[in-house]
Amino acid sequence: MAEIEPSAPVFDTLALIGIGLIGSSVARVARARGTIARRIVANARSERTLARVAELGIADACEIDPARAVVDADCVMLCAPVGAYAALAEAIGPHLKPGAIITDVGSTKQSVIRDVGPFVPEGVHFVPGHPMAGTEFSGPDAGFAELFEGRWTLLTPPPGTNAQAVARVRLLWERMGASVSVMDPAHHDRVVAIVSHLPHLIAFTICGTADDLADETRQEVLQFAASGFRDFTRIAASDPVMWRDVFLNNREALLEMLARFTEDAQAMARAVRWGDGGYIEDKVLRGRKIRQALIDLNQA
Ligand code: NAP
Repeated sequence: MAEIEPSAPVFDTLALIGIGLIGSSVARVARARGTIARRIVANARSERTLARVAELGIADACEIDPARAVVDADCVMLCAPVGAYAALAEAIGPHLKPGAIITDVGSTKQSVIRDVGPFVPEGVHFVPGHPMAGTEFSGPDAGFAELFEGRWTLLTPPPGTNAQAVARVRLLWERMGASVSVMDPAHHDRVVAIVSHLPHLIAFTICGTADDLADETRQEVLQFAASGFRDFTRIAASDPVMWRDVFLNNREALLEMLARFTEDAQAMARAVRWGDGGYIEDKVLRGRKIRQALIDLNQA
């Protein structure tokens, strides 16, 4: 693969398979910067989404058939829920250009390698990735060009992946404003289980618990929601299909983190029961320290 001039786009044609929050943010930043791809092809499951993408003017072409969407692409980025990846990879695999790069944005990485890997033809480079950026909104209207600015993207290339292909995908994300780190896929799945998947599981659960309360109490929960509960409801407003797929495809790591969390929550319950104020204060202090560390790292 040839060197890329600083002002030249990283790719000629970038095909986005799935164009919701993440895919449309990639399309928008590519449009805004001009150094990411000369041409963007958008694919979605429904004509409705593609009609909206055409209205927004964020892609050069819209194609409902994923196989046709990838034929000219030198980079294909899967931006659909991870549970759809195996079928998508099977559909596009035979149509990928020799020398093309296939990458993705999925929130789980071992499952993506398991599901996509077998359909990647000889001569096509597979560089899995995950931008650590998002919101609780979905669909092509939810994206924005600044989503990846100052955030991390984690790449998890399987052993033996072409180094130049990894460098291209790194450059793509850097040009979208992200910092890039390369990580082992199993390690990635453990890290995101604790920093992202468990917090979502807790948010969905706590909202369910509040909703199960008697009608009168539930009304009060909504009316007088304190900021703690409100913050949980923001996270819990996320897309159900995306999160179903994430939980089911990061099963082991998520269950392990949940078991550790449950033990720690039980220890806190014990401190509350026995009036161990020192234990409680210590935990709150640790929480404050973690918050301050995030602020210092510009990731708050
Ligand atoms: P989204 O806004 O819901 O968009 C999903 C897109 O995928 C839509 O264009 C949808 O098409 C298409 N799609 C859905 N099911 C499909 C299927 N079975 N076959 C083909 N296409 C399908 O989702 P998103 O938030 O952008 O998430 C996309 C990926 O990014 C996921 O893998 C997720 O794990 C990852 N991710 C998300 C976040 C986040 O905070 N949201 C952060 C980092 C990574 P239609 O509109 O036509 O249904």
